[in-house]
Amino acid sequence: MKRAVYPGSFDPMTLGHLDIINRASKMFDELIVAVLNNNAKSPLFSVDERVKILKMATADLPNVKIDSFSGLLCDYASENNLHVAVRGLRAVTDFEYELQLAQTNRMISNNNLDTIFLATSLEYSYLSSSGVKEIAYFGGDISKTVPDFVADMIREKINSKK
Ligand code: ADP
Repeated sequence: MKRAVYPGSFDPMTLGHLDIINRASKMFDELIVAVLNNNAKSPLFSVDERVKILKMATADLPNVKIDSFSGLLCDYASENNLHVAVRGLRAVTDFEYELQLAQTNRMISNNNLDTIFLATSLEYSYLSSSGVKEIAYFGGDISKTVPDFVADMIREKINSKK
């Protein structure tokens, strides 16, 4: 069985992430979307909330599983017998960081974890979680960036924090 992990912060999941999930789910028998519990960042949504959003958004994709992890991706991958990580590439600016991450993961996993990149769909190439949060914070229109139920959750969360 071909399995892969799509790791990320997903704070929050955007239509760009969902596009990568949809496309990767057709390439593998099982795709595990793994939310990174990163203590260094101060997230808008808790890991549980991010997992819930991803589960709701992928309910129609039976071979997509949602999980969370802390620590190193290569440890999570080895514990779960996963050898392929999927990452999205938006622009040249992503490339340097993603290349370094992919090579690091390959090295620290003793070549047991490889990374494949999916080029972003053109309509989402501008889209980032931090951009969505910024627009929402100042009351802008985020309806084209995330599913409707996520837009509602973002507005609610931002209002509760103001
Ligand atoms: P991280 O904090 O690990 O970069 P993100 O949640 O921001 O996590 O992104 C996870 C992955 O999804 C990364 O590989 C990122 O490049 C990719 N990604 C983010 N936004 C988009 C988008 N609009 N189109 C394609 N890939 C994207």
